Amino acid sequence: MTDRPVAGNQPAISEVDPESLTAWLAARGEPAYRAAQVLAGAHRPTATSLDDLTDLPRPLRGAVADAFRFSSIVGSHALVADGGLTAKAVHELADGQRIESVLMRYPARGKGIGRTTICISSQAGCAVGCPFCATGQAGFGRQLTAGEIVDQVLHWHRDPWLALGADWRPGGVRSHYNIVFMGMGEPLNNVDRVFHAVRLLNDPARLGIGARHITVSTSGVVPGIDRMIDELPQVNLAISLHAASDELRDELVPINRKWPIAEVVAAGQRFAARTRRRVSLEYVLIDGMNDAPAQAAGLAALASGWLCHVNLIPLNPTPGSRWSGTDAVGVRRFAATIEQAGVPVTVRDTRGREIEAACGQLHAQLAGRPIGTAVPMVPA
Ligand code: SAH
Ligand code: SF4
Repeated sequence: MTDRPVAGNQPAISEVDPESLTAWLAARGEPAYRAAQVLAGAHRPTATSLDDLTDLPRPLRGAVADAFRFSSIVGSHALVADGGLTAKAVHELADGQRIESVLMRYPARGKGIGRTTICISSQAGCAVGCPFCATGQAGFGRQLTAGEIVDQVLHWHRDPWLALGADWRPGGVRSHYNIVFMGMGEPLNNVDRVFHAVRLLNDPARLGIGARHITVSTSGVVPGIDRMIDELPQVNLAISLHAASDELRDELVPINRKWPIAEVVAAGQRFAARTRRRVSLEYVLIDGMNDAPAQAAGLAALASGWLCHVNLIPLNPTPGSRWSGTDAVGVRRFAATIEQAGVPVTVRDTRGREIEAACGQLHAQLAGRPIGTAVPMVPA
């Protein structure tokens, strides 16, 4: 039993800014250097609660644990796939909203080091409403706070499972995260909090993840892309194109009615020209929908002559969907057309199919079922 407030309105430690932390400490007669100790302790991968901040004197530790939350995530349900290389979690937030994150491990080859990509959500639900996306079908819940965004990364950072595996030096892998905003939500419809979260992730006093290891994926919010150019030019940009004609894109990515293809591609070109960073054009391949030769030629034309590459993703069908993914032969044929136009093209591996890893799917499966408190995950 504890007499502490449970999941109240205390700010999560992941989003407390150093100035207010220092002020809070000063009000207790504590020196400013304690702020760095609190942040370092809370971001240590082995921390399991704010009571673990053993650098602090015991009374102060208790006061910190009363004033702040260890995480804004109150419970998680995790599933492992791909022989332990992929894991997905549904997280429950203090008000009962649920979001998803996915972790993908890429083992080291030769003398290289393994990579770990963490896919995070920016909103509970999404208002864009793409018909092939489970999140889009479920509608919009609410914006996530910067702390709720960062806490998804911290969830995996604190998971002992991350330290396991022959290819991973214990602890070492943690400095090599790639973060992708490809979970639930449209990040550039929550732009201030997403940018704040990126800065928190960058902060060397916290996780210290370099901006070049972070990717924002957008359905095409043009003003948000322009803000990325000005405010976060080192963060990678992915644009979910999914169609080469406005008629089809109006249906597949309804935000196209506001910012049609020409405007989105022009924004991508501005980003590439100003930042000298290659933009990724995402294209979900849906059988009989957007995978005909004419659409491949249209995409090749849109992608030619500027610093971008095309990433093809066979659709991961959502339950009850009338659509299916393009087969392997169709994907190869489509990719060849893009390649022949001199545009770099990759095919995204479909990690985690058996755990409903596509955006919003596990969330839909667990709807209405209880989620336990956070359990560290260790593969079977
Ligand atoms: N809202 C942003 C980021 C989250 S979605 C965006 O749309 O870009 C991340 C990516 O997953 C997008 O490219 C999206 O189109 C894709 N996606 C969504 N549902 C999918 C599915 N069922 N199969 C394959 N990719 C999907
Ligand atoms: Fe929203 Fe992206 Fe899903 Fe479209 S694909 S509904 S923009 S999360």
